[in-house]
Amino acid sequence: MKGAVLYGPNDIRVEDLDDPRMIEPTDAILRLAASCICGSDLWPYRGLQPIDGPTHMGHEYCGIVEEVGSAVKSIKPGQFVVGSFATSDNTCPHCRYGYQSACVHREFMLRAQAPFLRVPHADGTLVPTPGGTPSPGLVPSLLAASDVLGTGWFAADAANVNPGGTVVVVGDGAVGLLGVLSAKQMGAGRIIAMSRHEKRQKLAREFGATDIVTERGDEGVARIRELTKGIGADSVLECVGTQESMMQAIHATRPGGYVSFVGVPHGVDLDGQRLFFTHVHLHGGPAPVRRFLPRLIDLILNGTIDPGKVFDLALPLDQVAEGYRAMDERRAIKTLLQV
Ligand SMILES: [Zn+2]
Repeated sequence: MKGAVLYGPNDIRVEDLDDPRMIEPTDAILRLAASCICGSDLWPYRGLQPIDGPTHMGHEYCGIVEEVGSAVKSIKPGQFVVGSFATSDNTCPHCRYGYQSACVHREFMLRAQAPFLRVPHADGTLVPTPGGTPSPGLVPSLLAASDVLGTGWFAADAANVNPGGTVVVVGDGAVGLLGVLSAKQMGAGRIIAMSRHEKRQKLAREFGATDIVTERGDEGVARIRELTKGIGADSVLECVGTQESMMQAIHATRPGGYVSFVGVPHGVDLDGQRLFFTHVHLHGGPAPVRRFLPRLIDLILNGTIDPGKVFDLALPLDQVAEGYRAMDERRAIKTLLQV
């Protein structure tokens, strides 16, 4: 099969790879319906996160189960399934507390930018869609559930978004935009999206943003204070992962408010004493997408949400390099790969 392999900064190639094989009896092999490129793939693509030799890319996936190992009980060949970027047994204490992305058996998925994929711990990781194979038009939204939607939803959940509350979303990538969608679903009264990109502002409004703030850093914080009568927001979703975005999030939050952070931090340092006096709750990490998958799949299948709108570019796998370039240059929000 073909698959995407990153060799170094700006050097992503499609190569002939071996088809995935069963390794453990708890594995499943999927034939993917589609794959995609994640904002977090841009960190190593830009050379901002070192790689250890050629790296098989891709961790978002959905598709049909081709084969299951002898120990797999609930997942069956022929089912259409969605899984998280982090595998889980869904039975250990961390899983039972709802933190499947901290599972004692966690593995971070790779190799999903390809037509076939091996998924460890199939029973705990994969969620079948009720009612059989969904219509092809729903594939982008189900693919989004695998990571960006699940992560945006966790961002809203971890920031304690409540009905009527004031929410700020820092970051207008796919995760930030789906954080807006998630906050809307949770009943937020006011959703302020921080974005200076016209196309993304438009999608943020479609997803439920009530205000757009284009300023950044201290100016962005001042603008949020102005919009909240000097108080700050109840919930702030940090969906970038830089020092500036993190400080912007913390200082836009009211005392007693909640900051979630789901952008993988790169070079973020928090000063304990400054943090002490802000009185904010901080909660972040790799999203436990598995916790939310059944609900997200239902919301997609019954037409309540359409998170697949974040895919504004679709390319055949052979053109994966253009897909990365388009996202790197912010010409595309998110690239879907036809595998
Ligand atoms: Zn577990």
